[in-house]
Amino acid sequence: MTAWASYLEQAARQRREAHRWRARHIHHDNDVIDFASNDYLGLASDPRLAEAEAEGARRYGSGSRASHLVNGHLEIHEALEEALASLTGRPRALLFSTGYMANLGTLQALCGSDTYIFQDRLNHASLLDGASLSGARSRRFHHQDIDDLDRLLQRAPTDARKLIVSDGVFSMDGDQADITGLTTMASRHSAWLMIDDAHGLGVLGEHGSGCTGQRHGSEHVQVLVGTLGKALGTAGAFVAGDSNLIDHLIQFARPYIYTTAMPPGVAAATMEAIRICTQEPQRRKRLSHLTSEFRRQASDLGLCLLPSSTPIQPILLGDEARALRWGEWLAQAGIKVGVIRPPTVPKGESRLRITLSARHSDAQLDHLLSALAACLHKEAQ
Ligand SMILES: *Cc1c(COP(=O)(O)O)cnc(C)c1O
Repeated sequence: MTAWASYLEQAARQRREAHRWRARHIHHDNDVIDFASNDYLGLASDPRLAEAEAEGARRYGSGSRASHLVNGHLEIHEALEEALASLTGRPRALLFSTGYMANLGTLQALCGSDTYIFQDRLNHASLLDGASLSGARSRRFHHQDIDDLDRLLQRAPTDARKLIVSDGVFSMDGDQADITGLTTMASRHSAWLMIDDAHGLGVLGEHGSGCTGQRHGSEHVQVLVGTLGKALGTAGAFVAGDSNLIDHLIQFARPYIYTTAMPPGVAAATMEAIRICTQEPQRRKRLSHLTSEFRRQASDLGLCLLPSSTPIQPILLGDEARALRWGEWLAQAGIKVGVIRPPTVPKGESRLRITLSARHSDAQLDHLLSALAACLHKEAQ
């Protein structure tokens, strides 16, 4: 066998033996109840977004034809950047094609070998990858441990450029970063703070402005990243902040410069999503009702929940095989949840990742809870 064939075969075998093999399943809309998506406000299938997308495509074309700096920056992109800046209470915003690219581009443009990056251990993979790409010196502090962060910051040279980076809502745990604690650390050590609010935008704060809200403006959280493929139901991402930050990214962020601009229909649909997000606060109210109902009933069942008040509600199960088994039982009951295993989460912390959405009915929530009760029952036998 060639070296490549045996390399692939061995990697696949190790992954399967560890119960970590990842498989894709075709998602059909109607045959399962979806508790796995990040569509928190139920906007991904809203016909008003589809209509806005079609109208955007008719008006501007299906593709944007070029990168933003060449010829692809259209008035619908400009309008969306202004709407996102206003939603998050920042002077400016800059669109990226995906959240993964926004994080790579921002870290690569801001940081180099003379920079120190301090990340929460549970930050999203794109933030870790962005730090490697930048060539900066990276330090990781214990999850949500401000004292550990303080200790690490003290060890860095006082005159070095320092960037603290954290998820706003941790994607696999659902807990919220202590923004006030982080801003205190940042100002004590003259560092900048970057928050990736992929799961907070649209869900938290007044009008869905996110975890930083209007309270922590760009003077406290200098770099704010948001994604459009979660609560806003479309695709893409943005960075929001002061004008000099945005200008710097336009000049130096390679994942911004060397890629085709977002399709105009997607930008138009996102404009509509922002309108709905701000004008229909009842969606956030419904979501928070479902979240507290789920937590109350799941803890009555004796399930191991994590301290999360967001729509991300993990159930900790421990080993990979157990998480797979529960995922399979729920699938048989017509329910799709995320089965999250290492390396996405630490070893021994495999879990079901249940996500709630404003579109879930009371009956669907009841069905989920009885299926979870049935899992406990099967294990007890
Ligand atoms: C989903 C996610 C991203 C990536 O965003 P995409 O637009 O899906 O590429 C980045 N950061 C966090 C915290 C996320 O949850």
